[in-house]
Amino acid sequence: MPGALRSRPVTVVGGGVAGLTAAIALQQRGAKVTVLERAPAIAEVGAGLQLSPNAMRVLDALGLSAALDAVSLPSHAVRLRDASGSDVVRLDLARHRPQARFRLIHRARLIEVLEQAARRAGVRIVLDHPVESPPDAPLLIGADGLHSGIRAALNGREVPFFTGQTAWRAVIADQDKPPEAQVFMGPNRHLVSYPLAGGLRNIVAVLETRDWQDEGWSHPDDPANLRAAFARFGGPVPGWLAQVDRVHVWGLFRHQVAARWQDGRMAILGDAAHPTLPFMAQGACMAIEDAWTLAACLDAVPDQQAALMRYESLRKPRTTRIVEAANANAGNYHLTGPRRLAAHAALRLGGKVAPGAILSRFDWIYDFDPVAEAP
Ligand SMILES: Cc1cc2nc3c(=O)[nH]c(=O)nc-3n(C[C@H](O)[C@H](O)[C@H](O)COP(=O)(O)OP(=O)(O)OC[C@H]3O[C@@H](n4cnc5c(N)ncnc54)[C@H](O)[C@@H]3O)c2cc1C
Repeated sequence: MPGALRSRPVTVVGGGVAGLTAAIALQQRGAKVTVLERAPAIAEVGAGLQLSPNAMRVLDALGLSAALDAVSLPSHAVRLRDASGSDVVRLDLARHRPQARFRLIHRARLIEVLEQAARRAGVRIVLDHPVESPPDAPLLIGADGLHSGIRAALNGREVPFFTGQTAWRAVIADQDKPPEAQVFMGPNRHLVSYPLAGGLRNIVAVLETRDWQDEGWSHPDDPANLRAAFARFGGPVPGWLAQVDRVHVWGLFRHQVAARWQDGRMAILGDAAHPTLPFMAQGACMAIEDAWTLAACLDAVPDQQAALMRYESLRKPRTTRIVEAANANAGNYHLTGPRRLAAHAALRLGGKVAPGAILSRFDWIYDFDPVAEAP
């Protein structure tokens, strides 16, 4: 019988997507949650996120549908295009899954919605509070992202490796908003773009390179470097890139999924547990799924150690599979020469004769319902 969380104090380290979603889910089940966030304000970098139905089911169950719909756009399709701009295939998400909700959102808007909901639920958010070593709390949740101290306390330090890819991200003003994500695929590089609410457009551009960049979010770069790397791209790309006046660049690193997620007192979720390459657009979505399942397990299983073991056993296999799928996807958009021609021809043909079959490959990601899963 759920109810084991009632009146229990929980400390969450990190006020990002994972930490805030977990805080809401825990507090709604009666826990007394404190979030410790190192930043002096809950603020987010300028970048977009695609939220797929598996994560939207959680956000809807937390009562956030209307608030999210007001600040996001629906996504009806993923359109794969050649570097020249010519269409390869258009994957119609709306037709394949009419009931499912795919949304495009600015990260800052998602964080605002989560922060407001957390405060409304009664979560205490302590800003400007960097956690140096795991606090001595009876239940401690590590949602402290890519370089998680709580993960290190559970597993020791890990050494990620550079994938040989760097990525730029930028947001531009753009009123043109066909509700779809577009992927432009060229040799050794690709560019993803989609509209955001408020007349904005998100751009992520990935290039294979030997130059080593730091891992992290905030490395400003000269927009001329982005324009030079994608100078041969056609369609709307040159117009978009001409508008970029601020861009950030970072190196893409591959990480192991954490071997140990909990020790009966501490547990990790989100990027702290399973940082992923962005090629399945599932990092935040997995964090949101984790948050629901963590709260559901702690509420359903009174013994804390058993609850955290259950959480780990439910989440590790799925997140590992998604991280591996993102790793495998890394090179798919970047083919060169005859392999590229063959792959694009196969996609064009597949899109004509069996478009549903291409999308069905992702059913296991998008059809999953964390809310329906028994904890
Ligand atoms: C280019 C790019 C595109 C992406 N696109 C998508 C997408 O389309 N869809 C998707 O689902 N995902 C996407 N992702 C992934 C997604 O952004 C991350 O997986 C997600 O933000 C992880 O959330 P998190 O809360 O675990 O970590 P974070 O968002 O990193 O939050 C961690 C928080 O912890 C705080 N913190 C860290 N250390 C401490 C400390 N010691 N003390 C206190 N606070 C601390 C930080 O300040 C931060 O607020 C993308 C990622 C990239 C790089």
